[in-house]
Amino acid sequence: MTVSHPVGAAKGRVLIVGATGFIGEFVAEASLGAGRATYLLTRPLDISSSKAKTIKNLQDKGAIITHGVVDDQEFMEKTLKENEIDVVISAVGGGNILDQLTLVRAIKAVGTVKRFLPSEFGHDVDRADPVEPGLTMYNEKRLVRRLIEDSGVPYTYICCNSIASWPYYDNTHPSEVVPPLDKFQIYGDGNVKAYFVAGSDIGKFTMKAVDDIRTLNKSVHFRPSCNFLNINELASLWEKKIGRTLPRVTVTEDDLLAAARENIIPQSIVASFTHDIFIKGCQVNFKIDGPNEVEASCLYPDESFRTVDECFNDYVVKVENKRAEATADGITAQINVKCAPIRRFLPME
Ligand code: NDP
Repeated sequence: MTVSHPVGAAKGRVLIVGATGFIGEFVAEASLGAGRATYLLTRPLDISSSKAKTIKNLQDKGAIITHGVVDDQEFMEKTLKENEIDVVISAVGGGNILDQLTLVRAIKAVGTVKRFLPSEFGHDVDRADPVEPGLTMYNEKRLVRRLIEDSGVPYTYICCNSIASWPYYDNTHPSEVVPPLDKFQIYGDGNVKAYFVAGSDIGKFTMKAVDDIRTLNKSVHFRPSCNFLNINELASLWEKKIGRTLPRVTVTEDDLLAAARENIIPQSIVASFTHDIFIKGCQVNFKIDGPNEVEASCLYPDESFRTVDECFNDYVVKVENKRAEATADGITAQINVKCAPIRRFLPME
């Protein structure tokens, strides 16, 4: 599919793979919001699915859709050439990391892509060392990194740390779930800190990095000082929002390791990352001082990150909405008891 001079093409054309996914949608929204010519590579979709609605919404904002898969080299070379793509951002999910090997070969063969951002969007996989089954995913991400570097493809690795939400150890996309309303599960002593980043900021800062010369062939770490919290602090913040305290139950290191050992995919992968973050401190046990790494707040000091406090306000609204829906459905008792005090803390009141 060839489209001549779409809106925003002057800034460099961006191809995003995985825009129907959790992280990819944030990146696609940010790319369009930044006024970029934005191409989305999507696999064929059932038109009645929620993913199709996501794509329609992005299309309405100006995205140009191409159907295909990244692990088809001939197709990818054709797509990159015909659309004169400058930047490729991949947000394929954890089960498809190795599909990107073909994509890297296509980018190398075409030779005109100025920047490739592989599907990272988490920790520095060369440093973090989770137990299995998370380790297998990191080994795959490492393989992709090595092929990129050996091929001489210009790259940026986005190490954005944790999504700003309650870090459930068995949920891959915790930002879609409200923080606990019955009890907190605290990992270990709850004192190991981590960095929390709103999904919209993952998109925003990724798009700032894509053609910044300072991020060429570097890892960009997201370490917003305003969102540097341990899980005890996160629990207290949520308690303030809901206006009451909740019991705290300890999930020990052994509990997390046992959940990882169960090898239920993807939950056990999340358990292994949770162990790495909140027991071993994988986000904080190193300094960003290598020649090939930069930190996002230092690069863009005038740009603010959404705070966890603000993100938690969104959850309060979500809880309120759920309560209203349940009331309308006549299912009032349990949710009313849990949510009644929240009214006083709604941000708009
Ligand atoms: P999802 O599983 O939500 O989405 C994956 C996307 O990739 C979908 O759009 C899927 O298409 C697409 N895709 C997969 N394989 C192919 C292929 N061969 N060709 C074309 N498209 C393909 O992924 P996530 O958003 O969960 O993960 C993206 C990255 O972000 C991963 O590296 C993950 O580790 C990381 N991550 C980080 C988090 C954090 O807290 N920091 C949280 C979650 C993820 P389709 O719709 O057709 O399936």
